[in-house]
Amino acid sequence: MAREVKDEDMERKLLEKQVERKILEIHGLVDKEQKETRDVLSPIICWKCKTKNGATAQYCDRCGAYLDEEKMCKDMIALGEQLIKIGRQAARNRLGVLKQKIL
Ligand SMILES: [Zn+2]
Repeated sequence: MAREVKDEDMERKLLEKQVERKILEIHGLVDKEQKETRDVLSPIICWKCKTKNGATAQYCDRCGAYLDEEKMCKDMIALGEQLIKIGRQAARNRLGVLKQKIL
């Protein structure tokens, strides 16, 4: 039962991918190289070290490079936000020190 559900889920995902690709194709947003990219079940070859990774891998097993563009973007945004927070905190601390010196 659970297995059937899983297969159904996989099929749906495949279909979604195909539809998504079709839409991009129609709008001319996919180039020829991208059209031939992996389907959901094929292994991902690392763009950096050419290691074969599992179909759902987000990072390369060998070199740790990002394999999922969307994941990479999300992580980069999160990292940027983190850095801004750290920067603000550092600025606040520095301001506190300066105030103490003046007063
Ligand atoms: Zn790699």
